[in-house]
This record gives sequence, structure tokens and C-alpha cells, in this order.
Amino acid sequence: MGPSWYWMPDIAENFFNVFAKSSLDFYDLKKISPSFRIFFEKDDYWDVPSEPEKLYDFFERTETGAAKQLQKFMKQASFKYDAAMKHLLYMPSLTWSEYLKWPLMKGFLRYSLFTSFGKHVRSYFKHPRLIHLMEFPVFFLGASPKKIPALYSLMNYSGFIQGTWYPMGGMYKMIEAIRQIAVEKGAKIFTSSEINEFTVNASSITNCKTKDTVHECEAVIASTDYHHIDQHVLQEPHRSYSEKYWNSRIMAPSYLIFYIGVNKKIPNILHHNLFLMKMSSSTPGRFMRNQNGPPVPYFISVAPPKLIYLLLLQVVKTFFS
Ligand SMILES: Cc1cc2nc3c(=O)[nH]c(=O)nc-3n(C[C@H](O)[C@H](O)[C@H](O)COP(=O)(O)OP(=O)(O)OC[C@H]3O[C@@H](n4cnc5c(N)ncnc54)[C@H](O)[C@@H]3O)c2cc1C
Repeated sequence: MGPSWYWMPDIAENFFNVFAKSSLDFYDLKKISPSFRIFFEKDDYWDVPSEPEKLYDFFERTETGAAKQLQKFMKQASFKYDAAMKHLLYMPSLTWSEYLKWPLMKGFLRYSLFTSFGKHVRSYFKHPRLIHLMEFPVFFLGASPKKIPALYSLMNYSGFIQGTWYPMGGMYKMIEAIRQIAVEKGAKIFTSSEINEFTVNASSITNCKTKDTVHECEAVIASTDYHHIDQHVLQEPHRSYSEKYWNSRIMAPSYLIFYIGVNKKIPNILHHNLFLMKMSSSTPGRFMRNQNGPPVPYFISVAPPKLIYLLLLQVVKTFFS
């Protein structure tokens, strides 16, 4: 269990369209309104509107001129989103030359794609809360806004303009849909089968071994953690990187997650809630730079409607330190 924010609905739709289907064949997709609640203190919170016009008004009420700034920000973000969808997302990334395309190059020249996201946001807004709000989407990418390139304002476009969606019945509905399509196409699915080793012949994987089975294969797509596959499943001669290399990497932060089921409605929370109490503008950077500091929790709680309430806690002590 993990995901709960259904953003970029067009990506899921494109996937289903490949099989002449639509997400609506599998689940009801509802736009969540307000998008989420952001707590700054116990009784001090903002409900972030899901409709762009209301969002612009909301920004204007917080900081004079911020509506216009948000429109400018989103115009650029929407360009990045379209460029990423058309020219980046579906590239195999085998060579740099894949990216030498005029629309992308134009974007590089026109927009600051590689300045830091933190700097980018601050060039539009001054109000510290608006800055927190605008920086929150890139936390999902696992690094400080100072380290994330401004290209990723495309996340803001999706989160704030396309909106936050939810498949009725839960995110697992997507898994069921993918499973159904795979099975219809003849796939055989094995669960609870950990692959411990690959057999490699002439640089191709020919077998995947589990504890009690050997599966012959023509190709392998390993979608699990790269480090795990490289260091624990592949035999040494076939690894891409050494242990020394992996030890020199700064890993993206991890999470501590609690699932709490309660049998009554918790007042004052929405479907998605962010708790940014005690967060200052230096907090994310400090944690991301691995500096010691007090553990400032950054919570997200998720409460799917009419189900048990799930509280999902991402503790920034691990998240950012
Ligand atoms: C707490 C949390 C919250 C998130 N929230 C969101 C969100 O709201 N919205 C969103 O879009 N994304 C969210 N994400 C990200 C999203 O969950 C991931 O991007 C997505 O699950 C990746 O899917 P995947 O199939 O590529 O990899 P995974 O879901 O990681 O699947 C890899 C699978 O491989 C299996 N595996 C590992 N080793 C082996 C082995 N040796 N043999 C066989 N199987 C193996 C694992 O058990 C796992 O099932 C969240 C992630 C986390 C952790």
C-alpha cells in the first residue's frame, strides 16, 4: 500500500487506450474537491481549491499579485508538462540524441528548466505559505526543492490544475485493471515468487530462479529497486555497479508508514491532508543535506471515503535526514 494521489490521469488513460480501453471500463474516477487540506498549526489550515479559477483567487487573497504570478507559473508548467508527455516520458533513454528535438530545445532555451525548483518558486511568490504549498509536489520526487530542477514544475501543473483524482474503490482498482488486461492478453501472473537469481548466457538472462521454480525467459523487465537487482539478484560479473559505487550514492529518503484503522469518523480532516507544522523554509534543505536537526515530522494522512481511515505518516527524520 502506498499511492493515494492519482495525478496525471492522462498517463493512465494513455495506458488503457493502448488496449482500446479506458479507465472508465474499470473504475469510476472522481475529482477530489478541495484537492487537499494543508495544516500549518492544529486549527490553522488551508483547503486548496480544485478549480483553477478559485485557486487563482485564493492566491490573490494571500499575496497581492499572486494570481497573475500563478497564471504565469502554470503557463510555463503546462508547456513543460506537454513537452514531458510528448517527448520525454515514453523515450527509452538509450542515448542523448533522443532528446535533441526542436520542441524540447526550444523549451530549454525559453524556460529555466535546470535552475533549482526552490529558486524558481521564489521568483514568483514571496509568501512563505505559498512557497511551502508550491514546493510540496516535488517532495514526492525524494529530494530537496533546491536540488530538483525547475522542469518539475510540471508536477504543480498536474496537482493544481489537472487536479487530484481518486479511483472509487481505491488505488488497487488500477492494479486489478492492469491485471485483467494482462490476463486477457495471455499473461500468466505469479505472486509471492521472489526471484533470487538470474541465469545469464551470452549477456542475456535466460532463466529466473525462485526458491522452488525456474522460469525460462526471453526478456526481463525488473521494476523493483535498481540497487536490489544489481547487488542481490544479479551475479557479480553481470552487475552494472560496484558496492563502492552504491555506497557513494545518496539515496532518496525513505518513509515510516503507519496504517491505522479506526471505526469512527475523524473530524476536521479531508481525503488528503498535509501537516506542515513547524516547517520553516530551511527545513527541507537542512534535512536533505543530511544535517542533524530535530526530527520535524512531515505527515500526510489519507482517508479514503467511507472506508477505514488510513493515516499515513512520513517521518521527515528518515524522510529528509
Ligand atoms: C509511501 C508511498 C506513497 C506513494 N504515494 C504515491 C501517490 O500518492 N501517487 C503516485 O502516483 N505514486 C505514489 N508513490 C509511488 C508509487 O507507489 C510507485 O511509483 C509505484 O508503486 C512504482 O511501481 P512499480 O511497479 O514500478 O514498482 P513497485 O510498486 O515497487 O513494485 C516492485 C515489485 O517488485 C517486487 N520485488 C522486489 N524484489 C523482487 C524479487 N527479487 N523477485 C520478485 N519480485 C520482487 C516487490 O515486492 C514489488 O511488489 C508512493 C510511494 C510510496 C512508497
